[in-house]
Amino acid sequence: MKNRSIINGDFVRKEAIDVGFDACGIVPLQPVNEAYSNVFLQWLHNIWHADMEFMRQYLEKRLNPRLLMSGRANAAVVTLLSYKCDEASFKDSLRLSRCAYGQDYHEVVKKKLHQLRRNIQQKNPKVHGRTFVDSAPIMERYWAVQAGLGWIGKSGMLISKQWGTFTFIGVLLLDAEVDGYDSPMNAEHCGTCNKCMEACPTKAIVAPKVVNANLCISYQTIERPRLEANGKSIREAEKTRCRYIFGCDICQNICPWNAKVPHHNHSQLTLQQELQQSNVDFWRNMNQDFFNEYFEHSTIARTGLQGMKNNVSIALNE
Ligand code: SF4
Ligand code: SF4
Repeated sequence: MKNRSIINGDFVRKEAIDVGFDACGIVPLQPVNEAYSNVFLQWLHNIWHADMEFMRQYLEKRLNPRLLMSGRANAAVVTLLSYKCDEASFKDSLRLSRCAYGQDYHEVVKKKLHQLRRNIQQKNPKVHGRTFVDSAPIMERYWAVQAGLGWIGKSGMLISKQWGTFTFIGVLLLDAEVDGYDSPMNAEHCGTCNKCMEACPTKAIVAPKVVNANLCISYQTIERPRLEANGKSIREAEKTRCRYIFGCDICQNICPWNAKVPHHNHSQLTLQQELQQSNVDFWRNMNQDFFNEYFEHSTIARTGLQGMKNNVSIALNE
């Protein structure tokens, strides 16, 4: 294509692994296909994104990421970083999603994506790139499928045959052509399994691959940690939250594709020591200064101190 650098796909994949990612695929950007777009638009129409209004923003770019980078985005390098580990036993039977055990994954994945971009630019100085981690109008799971990294399971999570569902997805958009793209994964391997849908305590998976965020514990505890728990009484909410105070891993715990996945080896994502010792009093007695300092580099910062206190109250059915 006119005026575009051409970079070697094998080089990019090798660099991605060298900077610490567990998997990498590369895909040419096209508008998101009609079937996936329609499901997404219907999801918005049903208000199943709850009040995450950012999901409605930049809709045109979300459905056609070629419009990003001032219209020059041409290829997506999609990366996976595993955070698979055993579920920790917290005191007072509190539970946190494994995505929160270590350093904020946005920071960890971004740093690696930036390093990957620098490595690519060292060899191809004219190439520009933009990084995305769960933040901008990029449908990460869709692009991971297009890059051959897995399929979207009935839980709505990306499933990699090698790494299961406990992965963080990073995306690096490039304004270059790539010599050697990956093929999309067209096959899906959930088969007749429905375990995630059956296990979800709030029945938030309303259809295969479709999660109503209003009902999802992850949404309730991370994005909207209100004491009124979306209109339910605390007693009602407590029953279904299964003592989660941040996120929820239930639909992932049950997924057979996670059974044989090895533990990750990323030191930044291992359970922080102080968190391991946390109990009800740890959260109840916490002051803002401690929270700001201790969770500055944690995804728990998103929920805020009062949000975590609210989540603990609900978990305890107070
Ligand atoms: S994260 Fe929890 S509440 Fe949300 S869909 Fe999965 S099992 Fe259900
Ligand atoms: S639990 Fe079963 S249905 Fe759900 S995502 Fe995993 S394999 Fe698919």
